[in-house]
Amino acid sequence: MITIDGSKGEGGGQILRTSLALSLLTGQPVTFENIRAGRRKPGLMRQHLTAVRAAAAVGGADVSGAEIGAQQLVFRPGSVTPGDYEFAVGTAGSATLVLQTVLPALLTASGPSSLVLEGGTHNPYSPPFDFLERAFAPLVNRMGPRLEVALQRPGFYPAGGGRFTAQITPAKELQGFDLLERGEIRQRRAMARVANIPRSIAEREIKILAKKLGWDDDCLTVEEVQGPRGPGNIVVVELASDPVTEVFCGFGERGVRAEAVARKVIQDVRRYLSSDVPVGIHLADQLLLLLALSSGGRFRTFKLSRHCTTQAELLERFLGTSIVVEELPGKVRTVTVTPR
Ligand code: ATP
Repeated sequence: MITIDGSKGEGGGQILRTSLALSLLTGQPVTFENIRAGRRKPGLMRQHLTAVRAAAAVGGADVSGAEIGAQQLVFRPGSVTPGDYEFAVGTAGSATLVLQTVLPALLTASGPSSLVLEGGTHNPYSPPFDFLERAFAPLVNRMGPRLEVALQRPGFYPAGGGRFTAQITPAKELQGFDLLERGEIRQRRAMARVANIPRSIAEREIKILAKKLGWDDDCLTVEEVQGPRGPGNIVVVELASDPVTEVFCGFGERGVRAEAVARKVIQDVRRYLSSDVPVGIHLADQLLLLLALSSGGRFRTFKLSRHCTTQAELLERFLGTSIVVEELPGKVRTVTVTPR
């Protein structure tokens, strides 16, 4: 039995999700203490509870203590069963993070899986669907398995109600790779999307992006999406180079000006463009986990986030992975992941 203290490291939901994912993969039971102790409202929220239930369903696990607000939980996995599953968060909590919990086990399961996920699809502090589809899934596919995601309806915070599907064709094992240089950007796109709020908000965001990044009109789009339950606004910038596609997002919020939302994304985009680093901050922690399950690999990124260092500690603990971080000038890091 492994004991995971959720107050350590990053202190949020990721420690729980990654531990659940690794418990499913290794068959090791886990006792969780101090779940999300580092957050203003600690304990399991709807999104985390759905992740626990999803992991239990996929892994035939015996779980005690899974309820809203719980800070303790015992998770005893059985065997992983691929198949058709539907998981609904029931609030705007991130559905992409629920996928993050069960995906690793299903990538090497004994057969294909087909998932329907409901909840938030475009939430701040979580992988937005566009990131999942354009940045993350292609890297999974490079490793051997096939992950195909399709958005049926976007769900924005706070109304939620989004829905997407994930088709997973597993591989026997995951092949690692290196992502050390990025090279030239071959394709750039910026989209400002609104749902149930004036189109002019997206137009203002695009105007700032055009002005500050100096991109041509054919790279810039305004989209009005139909279908979401509530209002929503997201700015998505996609930068594709030969080895990788990165996606940067900004989220509209009540009381935050459209120009400020755009400027925040521009800052992330400029930082990425001014370096030769292929892997951005968020992709780094997610890629780290994939590489730890593979034959290994190396990638270059920026200074690691606490999410990333927490992820590294969990991987070392559950799998005995060796993760070596080399510091390079300009706050650049090379991360070498070697499985045990
Ligand atoms: P809490 O921390 O409140 O418990 P949580 O369960 O939503 O919240 P975190 O522990 O903060 O989650 O983990 C968030 C995950 O989402 C991390 O893997 C992080 O890399 C990813 N993420 C956050 N923002 C983005 C983004 N803009 N693009 C891609 N991935 C993101």
